[in-house]
Amino acid sequence: EVLDKGLDKTKQTFFSKLSKAVVGKSKVDDEVLDSLEEILVTSDVGVDTTLRIIEKIEARIARDKYVSTSELNQVLREEVASLLEENNTGDYKEIEIPQQEEPYVIMVVGVNGVGKTTTIGKLAYQLKKQGKSVILGASDTFRAAAVDQLKIWAKRVDVPIVEQGMNADPASVAFDTLQSAKAKGSDVVIIDTAGRLHNKVNLMNELSKIKRVMQKVVPDAPHEILLVLDGSTGQNAYEQAKQFSLATEINALAITKLDGTAKGGVVIGISDQFKIPVKYIGVGEGMEDLQVFNKYEFVDSLFK
Ligand code: GDP
Repeated sequence: EVLDKGLDKTKQTFFSKLSKAVVGKSKVDDEVLDSLEEILVTSDVGVDTTLRIIEKIEARIARDKYVSTSELNQVLREEVASLLEENNTGDYKEIEIPQQEEPYVIMVVGVNGVGKTTTIGKLAYQLKKQGKSVILGASDTFRAAAVDQLKIWAKRVDVPIVEQGMNADPASVAFDTLQSAKAKGSDVVIIDTAGRLHNKVNLMNELSKIKRVMQKVVPDAPHEILLVLDGSTGQNAYEQAKQFSLATEINALAITKLDGTAKGGVVIGISDQFKIPVKYIGVGEGMEDLQVFNKYEFVDSLFK
C-alpha cells in the first residue's frame, strides 16, 4: 500500500488523461495512440521510451487486429513490464545484500537536494531491521549541513558514523570508515559523497580517489555505486543520470520523491535509457518510505 499511495499522483494524472482520451471510443486507434504518446511524454517517460512503448502497442494491434480501449490498461501493463524486463530491472522483495567475508560497500552519489541523505538513512534503517550491522561514512565533506544531516540520521537509526567534519578529505573519511567496518565486522558500509556536477573533472577525480583508497582496505569495494535521483524533477533527473554515468560507473539507481509528483513515469524512462537497474524508490520522508523496486508491483500499481 505504501507503493500505491506513493504513486497516487502519477496514477491519477495519468488515468484522468487517459480516460479523457478514450471517451466514446471502443477501439485503440491512431488517435488514441497519439493521445497516449502525449500522456506518456508528459508523465516524463521520455520521448525515446514513449516511442518504444507505442511501437510495442502498435505491434500488438497488428497482431491481434483489434485492441479495445478497455484492454488498454492491461496492454500497457504488459508492455511496460516487458520493457523493464529487457532492462534487467529487478523484482526485489526486500533489500538484498550478498553474504560475504568483507563488508559490503555501497557508495552513494547524486547532487544535493535529491534525497541522498534521506535515502542513506532509510537504507540503514531497513538493513538494521534485517539484522545487519551498518556503518555510515560522511564523505560529503563539502557542505557542513551534509555531515550534520547524516549524523542526525545515524542517531535516529542508531548506527555508527565515521566523520571528520567539513572540508576533510572525502577519501580519508571513506578509508577510516572501511577500516572501522572491518574492525567491527560490520556487514554493510554506506558512504555518502558530494555531488558537484558543475565541476565534472573534480567530481570524477574525487570519486575515483575515494574508490582507490577504499580498495586499500576492501579490494573489491565499492560493491554498489548507487545514484540517487529526484523523480519529481523529470528531465533534470535524466540529465543527472547522463552526467554521473560519464563521471563514474553506476550500477544501481534510487529514484526519490515519487510520492509528491505526477512524473512517476521517469522510473520507466530512466531505466530504459540508461540500462541501469532501479533498485530503490522513495515514496515519502519517513524511515519506512523506501521500497525495493519490483517491476511487477510497480506496473500493477501504476496501471491497476
Ligand atoms: P540530499 O541533499 O540529497 O542529501 O537531500 P536530503 O536527503 O536532505 O533530502 C532533501 C529533502 O527531500 C528533505 O526534505 C527530505 O525529507 C526530502 N525527501 C527525500 N526523499 C524523499 C521522498 O522519497 N519523498 C518525499 N516526499 N520527500 C523526500
